[in-house]
Amino acid sequence: MDAEASPSGIASHLRRALGAARHALAATSRLVLDIALPTLCVSCREPVHGEGVCAACWAGLSFIAPPFCPRLGIPFVYDPGPELLSMEAIANPPAYQRARAAVRYDDVARTLVHALKYQDRTDLAPAMGRWMARAGKELLDEADVLGPVPLHWRRGWSRRYNQSGALARVISNQSGVRVAAESLRRVRATEQQIGLSRAQRASNVQGAFKVAADRIAEIQGRRAILVDDVLTTGATVDACARALLRAKAAQVDVLTFARVVDNHKAPI
Ligand SMILES: [Zn+2]
Repeated sequence: MDAEASPSGIASHLRRALGAARHALAATSRLVLDIALPTLCVSCREPVHGEGVCAACWAGLSFIAPPFCPRLGIPFVYDPGPELLSMEAIANPPAYQRARAAVRYDDVARTLVHALKYQDRTDLAPAMGRWMARAGKELLDEADVLGPVPLHWRRGWSRRYNQSGALARVISNQSGVRVAAESLRRVRATEQQIGLSRAQRASNVQGAFKVAADRIAEIQGRRAILVDDVLTTGATVDACARALLRAKAAQVDVLTFARVVDNHKAPI
């Protein structure tokens, strides 16, 4: 009798066939998963491994490097020498001491910020936060606490994600400066700042922030850094800085991922 035709031969043949089928199925489902769930670069939509922006798009960001205004962090076209301030810093000195940002707010930066803020691309926060920690090293070396700019609870609920808080946590891990997450509160709903003039932005956020009474001890006498995704006119962080200073913060600096840079304004 043929060995393959015996009952045990048929059984082992079936086992082998089933094993092969299972193996093929597993390989196929892995393939399907690989096809269905690659991370796409948030900017160019090419598949990327690991973090959510490809090397080419990352390299396309305009990282801010010296020379820049020591107060506002606005990049200078040429180096005017140490301690020389920008026109803006002299004309409109903010409540905060210094501001730094990792990149200029251009198309790629805008795509990253919007994806983090509105599209739940939380996978972008680690890379963005690491660059912020690098850009803000000078400030972080002297800081006691990080204060993320709070969302209003209604807006926070609809978006369910505070991008400033996520960035602050990454910066905290990088620098060891702790996050004072619930200290600064939005006490008044504000309109979106988009589309408002500089003066409108300032009045829109005036008095909108407050340090919670039971959290004043976390701020009083401390050197704080406000953390936000983008600095446009600085009206929001200025209002936040005033609230921290009213709670007797020793000093307030600002660290953002991106900042708007007006290319037409030359340094003094
Ligand atoms: Zn890309």
